[in-house]
Amino acid sequence: MENCIFCKIINREIPSTIVYEDDKVLAFKDINPVAPVHVLIIPKVHIKNVMDLNEQNLDILKDIHLAAKKIAGEMGVADKGFRLITNCGEEAGQTVFHLHYHLIGGKELGPKII
Ligand code: 5GP
Ligand code: ZN
Repeated sequence: MENCIFCKIINREIPSTIVYEDDKVLAFKDINPVAPVHVLIIPKVHIKNVMDLNEQNLDILKDIHLAAKKIAGEMGVADKGFRLITNCGEEAGQTVFHLHYHLIGGKELGPKII
């Protein structure tokens, strides 16, 4: 999508610190980290958020989760634990409307919302 900041990151029009890439998924460090490990995992196709998922594009969740496992291992948070979070829509605080999962860890995380 032309004006999507994450599509621009995928296309290398905006620089980012990439930590993982395959043919379907890209992962890069969040520009404003809330924890020592804060990575954004995104599909290379433009999907707005969870509400944009359907039978045709749902397979991407498998790839995102497999990428999350690899990244968690490589960044040293697999054993101690991490959170994998997606915000869907404005009231949830979504600010970039390209589906993304925050992988957050490397410190005691809290408070828990749920
Ligand atoms: P949301 O608030 O939509 O759940 O998450 C969007 C995230 O994208 C935020 O944590 C924000 O810091 C991050 N972000 C926004 N613009 C950029 C950017 O240009 N580069 C990187 N690496 N992260 C960004
Ligand atoms: Zn996009």
